[in-house]
This record gives sequence, structure tokens and C-alpha cells, in this order.
Amino acid sequence: MAKKINPKQFLRIQNLNSMKKVYLDNASTTALYPEVIAEMTKILTEDYGNPSSTHSLGRNAKSILELSRKSIAKHINATASEIIFTSCGTEANNWIMRSAVKDLKTKRIITSKIEHHAVLHTAMALQNEYAIQVDYVKVKPNGELDLTHLAELLSEEKKTLVSLMHVNNETGTILDLDRVSQICQEHNALFHSDTVQSIGKSKIDLQKTPIDFIVASAHKFHGPKGTGFAFIRKNAGLQPLFFGGEQEKGVRPGTEAIHQIAGMAKALELSNQNLETDSVYIASLKAYTIEKLKVNFPDFKINGENTFYNLLNVTLPLDESKTSMILFHLDMKGIAVSRGSACQSGSIRPSHVLAEMLSPNDLKKPNIRISFSHFNTIEDIDLLIEGLKNC
Ligand code: PLP
Repeated sequence: MAKKINPKQFLRIQNLNSMKKVYLDNASTTALYPEVIAEMTKILTEDYGNPSSTHSLGRNAKSILELSRKSIAKHINATASEIIFTSCGTEANNWIMRSAVKDLKTKRIITSKIEHHAVLHTAMALQNEYAIQVDYVKVKPNGELDLTHLAELLSEEKKTLVSLMHVNNETGTILDLDRVSQICQEHNALFHSDTVQSIGKSKIDLQKTPIDFIVASAHKFHGPKGTGFAFIRKNAGLQPLFFGGEQEKGVRPGTEAIHQIAGMAKALELSNQNLETDSVYIASLKAYTIEKLKVNFPDFKINGENTFYNLLNVTLPLDESKTSMILFHLDMKGIAVSRGSACQSGSIRPSHVLAEMLSPNDLKKPNIRISFSHFNTIEDIDLLIEGLKNC
């Protein structure tokens, strides 16, 4: 029997549906480009062959797959054979780190306590399983990593994988990839960077920056969920995480999701094409938000310094009791922001990233992560500020 909806509940759902939605959680995921939806719909409808089949439908799918690989490689100045498709950024991070330990016989991972859990929890699991050493680079109060400490850690000679993210997904602090690659080269260490938050939003040239491994996730740059890629520098020697067919040269078996991969390639192409205009526009939205916060919440604090143009993490001068309800109140007004990474935004546990940067007292205060995209407008920001004032 169908469940009866109580009339009050029904009205609330109707109100929410007709309300203007303000989406300011783009570090969590992004809306798709219409062109990506069109491309994926065409492929789902017409190009449904299996790329491993030898008939013409299969060959057509194979050609879409390889053209997507070539296009993605071009945007980061890599070769097509260095791009391996995965189901997401988490898978790519897990694969690289696990194979570095299991197959490349890495004895130590150097990472930081502000990494995404896809890296942090993988490092901990590998430490338990393989008894490797895991060291953490010190985090400064402004969210930057202490690169002198990284060099000090590396002075202990041991086969090492350094795993440090490019743009932090909670605060937007930026790692100097050139500097860290150089330090790793000087100490003969492998360098893996989780670039999930920066691919499609900044230029990365892998000929100029000698990183060994990077990873990306399509849904962070207006592509589909459920697909990503790993860049594995030529002759790195990584072995598969699981076994099956010959897809992806046997290092990542499983029938390729052609529509997702082509959607990802299209999203990256559009993101790069629009990068200059979009980044200037998004930075102006961020600056406007800061100005508005200054006027309405004079004692607010920005968490992190010199942060990425699409991310703003702030502590608000509101009562501690509001911490757990602030997202709910904004949500009731149709405004989506978050408190940290999506996986923990439903929890009231303090962020593991902010815990490394803030005093215990500041950590208790309400904080939100506002993350912008080119789809946002000044009106969105005004609605957010009004929403916060009424929290
Ligand atoms: N790494 C970072 C920095 C992220 O922000 C995320 C997603 O939130 C991931 C990894 C995981 O990516 P995916 O959702 O594709 O598994």
C-alpha cells in the first residue's frame, strides 16, 4: 500500500522544489555541461559497442575511447599511453599507492594529515598490511605544508612515495607542485599528487613538472560521476589492482564505460577552453563573497591563506550551538554549501583538515566551505548571505 504523505510535509517539499536553488558546493561535485550531456546521450544511443569487439560497432567504440584518451593527454601535456581510465579519483589514488608499495617495493609513504581520506585511509591500510613507515609533513596554521620538513624527512634514505595533494578540497590551500617535484627528484623519491580538485581548473604541464602520478575525477569539472583517470608516467612499472581482461593494457581490466569517458574528455576540453574567463569570473565571485562577509560578519575568519580561486572556507562569528544546524537551515532555504568533504558533511565531527590548522576553540565554531563554479551568480551570493544572517 502506498504510504500517505502528511499535508504539511507535502507543502514543505513543494516549497523546496519551487525555491530557487543556490548550489555553492562545487568542490563536492559539479553540474554537467549541457554539451557533455549531449555527447553522452549520443554515445549511449548510437555508439553502444564494446571497444574490445572486432566488428564495426566495437571498432567505433574503440575509436571514441582512444580519441578521448588522446584529448585528455593533450590537456596535461602527457602521452596518450600514460592515461589509464578508472571509475573515480578514489580508485586511482588507491591503485597508485597500493602498487607503489606492493610492486615497486616502496618502504615508506610521506603524506600529510590534511589529505583526502582516499589517500589518508589508503596510507593507513598499507601501513597495517605491509608494515611500511608512514610519515606526515607538518601543516602550518595557514594550511600550507612545511616543505623544509618534507626535505628533512626525505633525508632519511629509504625507498619512498610522496603523496601530497595539489589543491586541498576543504580549504583550497595550494601545493607548489614544481617545488615538491624538485625536492622529490633530489631525494630520488616517487611523487604522487591527488589533483582531483585542480584538474580542469588550472593548467598542469607534465613535461615541465616531473610528477610521477596524478589523478582526476570527471564529476569535479562538470563531467559525469563514476569516471576518472590516472596519469602514470611511462615505465613506472605499476601492476593492476585486480585482474581480468586486456582492457587498459591489462592494468585496469573491465569493459570501459565509453559514454562516461567521452563525457569526461568533453568536460575537460570545455573546462580548458573556458579556463581563463571562468577563473577570472569565479575569482570575482569569491572576492564579492569576502566583501559581503566583511560587512555582515565583521569577525569572520578565512581558513587557509592564498587559497584556490573557487574555494572559500570560513569560520563564522556565530554561537557554537549553531554549528550542527547551520547547513540544515541553509538547506531549508535552498542553499547548498558544506562543512568539509562530502563524505563527512553530514557529520558533526570536526573536519580532520581544520583540526590540523585551528585552535580547539576555533574548531568548535561554525564553519562552512563555499565552493563556486561558473554557473554561479552574484544573486546566489546575496541569497547565501541573507540565509546566513537568518541562521
Ligand atoms: N581527492 C580529492 C581531493 C577529492 O576532493 C575527492 C572527492 O571529493 C576525491 C579524491 C575522491 O574522488 P571521487 O569522488 O572521484 O572518488
